[in-house]
Amino acid sequence: MRTMIEPFRIRSVEPIRLTSAGEREEILQRAGFNPFLIDAEDVLIDLLTDSGTGAMSSEQWAGIMRADESYAGAASFRRFERTLQELTGFRHVLPTHQGRASERILFELIGGPGKVVPNNAHFDTTRANIEHSGAEAVDLPVAEARCPSVLHPFKGNMDIEALRHLIRTIGPARIPAVMVTVTNNSAGGQPVSLENLRAVRAVCDEYGLPLMLDACRFAENAWFIRTREPGQRDRPIRAIVREMFDLADGATISAKKDGLVNIGGVLLLRDDALFGRAGNLLILTEGYLTYGGVSGRDLEAMAQGFREVVEEDYLAYRIRSVEYLGEQLMRSGIGIVQPPGGHAIYLDAARFCPHIPASRFPGQAVVCGLYRTAGIRAVEIGSLMFGGEGRPDPPLELVRLAIPRRVYTQSHMDYVAEACAELHRRASGLRGLRIVEAPSVLRHFTARFAEIVPADTDRSDRTVADVLARPPQAVSTAG
Ligand SMILES: *Cc1c(COP(=O)(O)O)cnc(C)c1O
Repeated sequence: MRTMIEPFRIRSVEPIRLTSAGEREEILQRAGFNPFLIDAEDVLIDLLTDSGTGAMSSEQWAGIMRADESYAGAASFRRFERTLQELTGFRHVLPTHQGRASERILFELIGGPGKVVPNNAHFDTTRANIEHSGAEAVDLPVAEARCPSVLHPFKGNMDIEALRHLIRTIGPARIPAVMVTVTNNSAGGQPVSLENLRAVRAVCDEYGLPLMLDACRFAENAWFIRTREPGQRDRPIRAIVREMFDLADGATISAKKDGLVNIGGVLLLRDDALFGRAGNLLILTEGYLTYGGVSGRDLEAMAQGFREVVEEDYLAYRIRSVEYLGEQLMRSGIGIVQPPGGHAIYLDAARFCPHIPASRFPGQAVVCGLYRTAGIRAVEIGSLMFGGEGRPDPPLELVRLAIPRRVYTQSHMDYVAEACAELHRRASGLRGLRIVEAPSVLRHFTARFAEIVPADTDRSDRTVADVLARPPQAVSTAG
């Protein structure tokens, strides 16, 4: 098999800077061991997120120059609308500034106290918008989603029996819609099969419930369906995408993922009355119906991005480049969520540094190690992100390496794999952390930490700075 090359040439480049080990140490300390507090120019390879970090094509940039900035009925809006209508089959298309704006409008209309919204797994902004409306968000993933090493082609699937059980228990009247996230971001970018989507649709029909898609990564999901689901191999990607959307009554989309743009979102609805009410809310807080909080040039870039993302060369390269990184890591004996997802590789941090307990944030220790070793920025998805006072411990301690679209080349991925392998060999030297200061909500964004001295030299929770500041005798008698 030949190397799968990046299906593009690079005509505009942005230099990246390798800092010295000493500089990185100082930067990490200054940032309180939290990569969100590091300036992007001090990062060599930025794998913090795949959201809004992709590279646009020459055709997208051409669209930006061509854009019509008319307030109402702009030609750019019509191109955007037509593209989404052709791709998804939905007649009603509203532009928003990003995915969460679509969610806020949808759940202001269908959420509210006493309501319950099931999903295979809610993304954090989706959950937050549902809860903000007073409703409850319930995750119903299949059991395989909770086990990193289990190989399953569609770990993003919804547990159909659990969905039935929920509907029977609380009654369909309390459920304004069933939602399915494709791909399932919270479960590691894992896909949902067509068979599962059809089964969810059947349950919705049985109880008269609408089905909404969180379709941020619809194209990556469609590629997995084509390559993994029996009977799908010969179908065009567009046909699979169309069938996914045909099963739904509405969709929220962040165009910062499979829209291949840096900002933008979409709300799709089938119901005329609901669309009318959504349009009124859009005008209230986003903008008029034909621009919805973004400029004509953003609409042009989205229209072109949604066409490019379903090109098969692009998707083959996209999924393969993420899988390639996963293979390199596994070859070095590093545990990852298997199989590799569509947009990211998730390291199993509990396995990476078994000497660090969940209370000392093993994922954050790996994140700090990656920055120290190689200037790579990743993000913890575990006790730090999901834990905290009164919240249950999350089942997994993960570190996400999210891959921006069309930004990094294979040699960048090789560098990341080498850095991870090097860190893995020295993992016993990684140090746990304790929180020095943190806000009460969404603490992972702004918390500051101190490193704890390794357990084999000292069993207390003193930080490295404490040890350096006091003579060893004083330390041992303080016991
Ligand atoms: C990113 C994302 C969202 C929210 O979109 P924003 O554009 O960041 O507001 C919703 N759901 C999923 C699955 C996402 O990945």
